Amino acid sequence: MQSPIQTYLEDLHKSLVGLTAGELASYIPELTKANPDWFGISLVTMDGVAYNVGDTGQLFTIQSVSKPFVYATALADRGVETVSRKIGVEPSGDAFNSISLDPQTGAPLNPMINAGAIATTSLVAGDSAEAQWQRLSASMAAFVGRDLGIDDSVYHSESATGFRNRAIAWMLKNFGIIDGDPMAALENYFRQCSFEVSCQDLACMAATLANGGVHPVTGRRALPAEHVERVLSVMATCGMYNYAGSWLFEVGMPAKSGVGGGIIAVLPGRFGIGIFSPKLDAKGNSARGIEVCKRLSKDFSLHVFGRAGHPSMALGRVYSAIDAPSRRQPSSAMRSYLMEHARRIKYLCLHGYLAVDGIEYIIRKMLQMASDTHSFILDLHQVDGVSDCAARLLNEARLGFSRDGIAVVFTRIHARKSISQPLRRVSAKGDRGYLSFEDNDLAVEWCENRLFGEAAHSPVTAASLADFLLFKGMPLVLTLQVEAATTSQVYAIGEEIVTAGQAGDGRMYFIESGQVSVLVPLADGAHHRITSLSAGMNFGEMVLLGQTSRTATVCADTEVRCRILESRKLEQMAAESPLLKIILLENLAKDMANSLRRATQWIAALA
Ligand code: GLN
Repeated sequence: MQSPIQTYLEDLHKSLVGLTAGELASYIPELTKANPDWFGISLVTMDGVAYNVGDTGQLFTIQSVSKPFVYATALADRGVETVSRKIGVEPSGDAFNSISLDPQTGAPLNPMINAGAIATTSLVAGDSAEAQWQRLSASMAAFVGRDLGIDDSVYHSESATGFRNRAIAWMLKNFGIIDGDPMAALENYFRQCSFEVSCQDLACMAATLANGGVHPVTGRRALPAEHVERVLSVMATCGMYNYAGSWLFEVGMPAKSGVGGGIIAVLPGRFGIGIFSPKLDAKGNSARGIEVCKRLSKDFSLHVFGRAGHPSMALGRVYSAIDAPSRRQPSSAMRSYLMEHARRIKYLCLHGYLAVDGIEYIIRKMLQMASDTHSFILDLHQVDGVSDCAARLLNEARLGFSRDGIAVVFTRIHARKSISQPLRRVSAKGDRGYLSFEDNDLAVEWCENRLFGEAAHSPVTAASLADFLLFKGMPLVLTLQVEAATTSQVYAIGEEIVTAGQAGDGRMYFIESGQVSVLVPLADGAHHRITSLSAGMNFGEMVLLGQTSRTATVCADTEVRCRILESRKLEQMAAESPLLKIILLENLAKDMANSLRRATQWIAALA
């Protein structure tokens, strides 16, 4: 099964391929050679895993996406005071190439517009332009996680035509913002804009900022932690030029775009996102890139000021049913089967608040374990809350796993509305909903039964009615007489055997092999599972008491073989041998007394 995160990104990519609005940047002639169809989306997690869709390996020039990283380098090299004296942090509301300098000081308003970026480049450490270039390249390499080359033709193309930037550089010299040779600083700026990166590189750079300045794959620190929030602040307010306000309003992630078609967006502590699509809107931002970010922000609740809650999810213990089997007394056949197979039942204990990043991690871990797993038990007892999008992804994963024959069940959420409600809301109509258990023991027992259900020779079978509690103490002749009146039927996985609310047909079911779930439908369409029954257990026996309509739904969890007894036939036999009815009713009463005792214990525990 594929991660639902990957599926989501593929769907998103597919839905935006048709968006062909915008134009290639042409003021740098060489940029018109880009293929306008290129389109990639990458997302890198804090532990360095990349989700890639589309043209994520295609190289293109980084352009202005370099600006926050060179600003970061200047901060690291010169300190915040020196840098702030030369370059402001106020959004200009102007286009990237505007000549906006503070009228009093001549300082560029912020480091994300060209004026500020050229000044920033001149501040990188080094006693010559070449030494500065070496430092700048090394710093970029740390953010990306590899050495970068530059696209010479784009560099020369820009250098040969960049008169406006040249004018800006001389203005900066005039106001004393650039100390040395402004043309040397400008050449470094043009070269820095021509670094060749891929969409995945951009996502890694964004992830490094999201990860407090440490590259999530190499583990190397690219920037002192104290500067990270400064860089992200200017990205949030100025990163999208004269679209910055709307961007923060609608998307709400620190971001930076470049005229090569790249955009990065940073989710502090969570994700780095890189998008590449070279057609630009009127403001010089990748048209598809903006759409991708809008959708991601909305669908994954990523707005930094949003209500997604604080993602502090952790995966606690992971163990298997070998370490913690159910408390029932297994027969020796069951025991030896479990010894061999129970490791395929995995418990995962989750903590904290489940948002998109936490759930991404959990699903990834589950996918890694999937090849050796038959059932996952997710213990949500210590989970504080679940965001709607996390619930949706978890539900998609549950359905995906179940298509692969792997069950995902939840435990210990019954009294926890903040968890059960979002999980329930996402179950689609027609889907029987998720299974949840009051405790881990019930869950593991259900999973063990599921394992038995797939065994070639099930260790739990009931060959004769004499193996059933209801026939305990019955003279064998009577049992055999009843047995002869039964019919046998096989049900496929998922098949509904009886349906709650349906008028009774007077049938009693005796499970010979396999396992069923007893479910009560809830008002919102989900099902609450009361119990599971396996070989040697029966259901529908309430017809003995004359009950006609079914109180619960019974559904096959595995392939199930049942013996069916019609109460009509039973009554005929009982008319001749009253002992039959007496013993059955006596056993039924004992069984019900046991159930009642268990129910009382539950009520006491819940109170
Ligand atoms: N090299 C480009 C320029 O200075 C970068 C602009 C951009 O990507 N917004 O014009």
